[in-house]
Amino acid sequence: MDFDETPQEAAFRAECVQWLEANLPPDGSGRDQTAITISDPEVENAYVARCKAWQRTKYDGGWGSITWPVEFGGKGLSGIHDGIFKEEEAKRVEATGVFAVGIGMAGPTIIAHGTDAQKERYLPAMLKGEEVWCQLFSEPVAGSDLGGLRTAAVRDGDEWVVNGQKVWTSGAQYSDWGILLTRTDPDQPKHRGITYFLVDMTTPGIEVRPLVQITGAAHFNEVFLSDVRIPHENILGGVNAGWGPIMTTLSNERALIGGSTTRTRFEELAKLAHQTGGDRDPAMRQELAKAYTRMEIMKYQGYRMRTAASRGELPGPESSTMKLAISLHFGETGDLVMAMNGASGMLHADSARDEGRWQYEFLGQWASRIGGGTDDIQRNTIGEKVLGLPPDIRVDKGVPFREIPS
Ligand SMILES: Cc1cc2nc3c(=O)[nH]c(=O)nc-3n(C[C@H](O)[C@H](O)[C@H](O)COP(=O)(O)OP(=O)(O)OC[C@H]3O[C@@H](n4cnc5c(N)ncnc54)[C@H](O)[C@@H]3O)c2cc1C
Repeated sequence: MDFDETPQEAAFRAECVQWLEANLPPDGSGRDQTAITISDPEVENAYVARCKAWQRTKYDGGWGSITWPVEFGGKGLSGIHDGIFKEEEAKRVEATGVFAVGIGMAGPTIIAHGTDAQKERYLPAMLKGEEVWCQLFSEPVAGSDLGGLRTAAVRDGDEWVVNGQKVWTSGAQYSDWGILLTRTDPDQPKHRGITYFLVDMTTPGIEVRPLVQITGAAHFNEVFLSDVRIPHENILGGVNAGWGPIMTTLSNERALIGGSTTRTRFEELAKLAHQTGGDRDPAMRQELAKAYTRMEIMKYQGYRMRTAASRGELPGPESSTMKLAISLHFGETGDLVMAMNGASGMLHADSARDEGRWQYEFLGQWASRIGGGTDDIQRNTIGEKVLGLPPDIRVDKGVPFREIPS
């Protein structure tokens, strides 16, 4: 791993900065802080509209995706380049959030497993920011153990009829399309017999019910599917052959989370410390130094992942180390910012300092400990793949899904 940017990477960074500075959205950061701390469809829709407009600007300028191949509208560059662009973008624009599932996960999966017709239908609209996607994977009894999913699809002529329930579906309330996993053959072992669909979220029979989180926002949802009819042509990767596309989606999700920069920059923590007097308190100075150290370690770990990605290596166990480091960091930093806020940490949203962003920082830590694979699951992966410990005992391996007790 080389810590210094190559002359080509430095030139690319300069190019990113130049383009971003010349094309910034008129409303600055683009994020309304209240959109992440309260549940208000109007505020949220306005945020989604800003995200779409910014994505369209990027698409028109040729910056819609750094890593998608050129033939699908991307720049066809490496994960390192993507990291450079995102780093510079994050300093200037925050209206990027709603495309993580689409451009970051569904798009690469369609590129890898889709038919020509699917690529033509879905990829351009995704990259132009016209269609937002959500991920209909988790179910009430299938999260960490995704292979246990029970939502059933049964073929009826040229269509499939889907019944079941999904949960924790981020952004389903404003999504146009979803990537949906269903059980299509319960006589096969659990990781087989799964079919991956692309589903229009306006299809009759889909009901989206928001779930209000600890932060006050309703970021994710329960999604009920009752006799939802999906055309056969919307299958990605073949009937009962969903596990391949699932792995592509999940490895892109891990790379996305692992490659994400931390929510708060150290300069912002230092500013808060200065405003609250935390920088004159020895115990808090100690915690600030620890936060700085964690951020530096994650930065270099990020370089390691990007270096691997630029060599064409799939994200390995280092993405689990990174995901775990990020969520532990969010926890410790969340505690620190609340300690610096002192009694005013009990205030909420508009009444609180900086419109409640520090409360959000604190309360948001649990989401990152669970979403995209829990801390325990990351520890299992590290234990098995890095430390060579014995794997979990899998009593349902090779057993037909129908025979697994529920
Ligand atoms: C903010 C957020 C956004 C999300 N967005 C989406 C989304 O858009 N789409 C989607 O499909 N899902 C989404 N999820 C769901 C997420 O993927 C699941 O919550 C996660 O995989 C955990 O599954 P679970 O909630 O069913 O918990 P479970 O798997 O039931 O786990 C419960 C507890 O048991 C532990 N545990 C489970 N298995 C093991 C094991 N083998 N070894 C040790 N401990 C174990 C877990 O760590 C956890 O503490 C989101 C979750 C969050 C928090």
